[in-house]
Amino acid sequence: MRTTHWIGGKPWHGVAERSGHIYDPATGQVVGQVDFAAAAVVDEAVAAACEAFTRWRAVSLAQRTSLMFAFRELLNARRADLAEIITAEHGKVLSDAAGEIQRGLEAVEFACGIPSLLKGGYSENASTQVDVYSIRQPLGVVGVISPFNFPAMVPLWFVPNAIACGNTVVLKPSEKDPSAANFLAELFAEAGLPDGVFNVVHGDKEAVDRILAHPTVKAVSFVGSTPIARYVYETGTRHGKRVQALGGAKNHMVVLPDADLDLAADAAVSAGFGSAGERCMAISVVVAVDPVGDELVGKIRERMAALHVGDGRRPGCEMGPLVTGAHRDRVVSYLDAGQSAGARLVVDGRNHPIDGEQAGFWLGPTLFDHVDTDMSIYTDEIFGPVLSVLRLPSYDAAVEVVNANPYGNGTAIFTNDGGAARRYQNEIEVGMVGVNVPIPVPVSYYSFGGWKDSLFGDAHAYGPEGVNFFVRSKVVTSRWLDPSHAGVNLGFPRNS
Ligand code: NAD
Repeated sequence: MRTTHWIGGKPWHGVAERSGHIYDPATGQVVGQVDFAAAAVVDEAVAAACEAFTRWRAVSLAQRTSLMFAFRELLNARRADLAEIITAEHGKVLSDAAGEIQRGLEAVEFACGIPSLLKGGYSENASTQVDVYSIRQPLGVVGVISPFNFPAMVPLWFVPNAIACGNTVVLKPSEKDPSAANFLAELFAEAGLPDGVFNVVHGDKEAVDRILAHPTVKAVSFVGSTPIARYVYETGTRHGKRVQALGGAKNHMVVLPDADLDLAADAAVSAGFGSAGERCMAISVVVAVDPVGDELVGKIRERMAALHVGDGRRPGCEMGPLVTGAHRDRVVSYLDAGQSAGARLVVDGRNHPIDGEQAGFWLGPTLFDHVDTDMSIYTDEIFGPVLSVLRLPSYDAAVEVVNANPYGNGTAIFTNDGGAARRYQNEIEVGMVGVNVPIPVPVSYYSFGGWKDSLFGDAHAYGPEGVNFFVRSKVVTSRWLDPSHAGVNLGFPRNS
């Protein structure tokens, strides 16, 4: 199977100079090829988007809304097909792929409300016979660059809002699981979106660099690892673009002594090992505040033993493989690193039974206890099924450690003390906080984004901040004169 670009409302028919393999992570087999766009192919996509923009921005809000509703209906009807595509290329289990699509659908539903979201303000008679109002206009061609771990949801965080606001889009999805993006393009076309409003180019750094440098591209929304997010932000802004670049994470779950430890252990296992830990909101560090460490680690270990790891298409599997063999090997290298650094390997994921083909990119869930903040298993984003337990003496020590971490994407506190939870939400330097909720991904009518090295730029993704990102505002000051004339006045305008 060949996955190619989608430009001007149809698949691209050129011959790619470079391409990459697409793997089925559960079998380890190559199942397809993806074309990599050279700079000239990105230029074609931007040209198609630029041509479409002139017409698309003039399409009424009513029509844009009804198109978004039609897309929502198609996506809802075809969600099972999309989940299969995601599982086949990413490896996450089907139920998890369905969950990702559900969150994506919610972002589409938010974009269906675009007429209210684009309302401006109006001040009648701001000065005598002068009215002032603001309008919100699209930017033009915008780029979206997405990571492998949510091949449908992350594009859906941005694309519906961008399009509903009147922009046209060039999406560059991850080359590891590229086919979901084409599926979305086909659904948009079926929903009646005019050719060129949504385009997809596949590839790697070459395609990204061209998007970042292209003079016609006005803004870039990026999601991926922190080093690339920083690079995208710095390069894109240097080229005069508006950029929001969401990066990596190291999310802490603080468990206070008064917490319900069964609830906390369930949450740690679900949030640590769901999607094999390949979520930017996964919990990777459990901070056990004395004296809960022994009991909590025991409860987490019990639950880990029961996890059914295997091919995400097989019934009952709860955790799938890692996305590539290289990534699996990198994650495994941290198991050795943690042990050499002196952490206690309580559960070794290499020994977990697997319900799948041997050649798949497997690693079972792993638990380290007595981890220190200077060990690489703590300092690095591992992005796999590896959970570290830090034992700390107090609430204050926990807050100090979380705030000292360079990442600030998500965090959670588990406690039955409302006052402690309230203090935590106030004191913690992290963008998304859960209280007895391990993965606090905001609903679509709030916005998603971390602090510190987890986000470069000012605007969070989707929700109200997402809409702000895709428009620029204009303020009009107008006077419809009485037939009398005001006379020449060279002074600075004053309101009276
Ligand atoms: P990645 O940074 O390797 O790739 C992201 C995108 O950038 C891909 O489209 C890729 O092709 C492109 N890219 C890769 N290397 C590049 C380079 N040198 N120059 C230009 N472009 C390049 O990330 P990934 O491995 O696909 O995804 C996992 C990462 O994404 C994790 O760090 C995870 O925390 C992060 N993530 C963050 C969020 C968030 O909301 N903060 C959400 C999902 C994933």
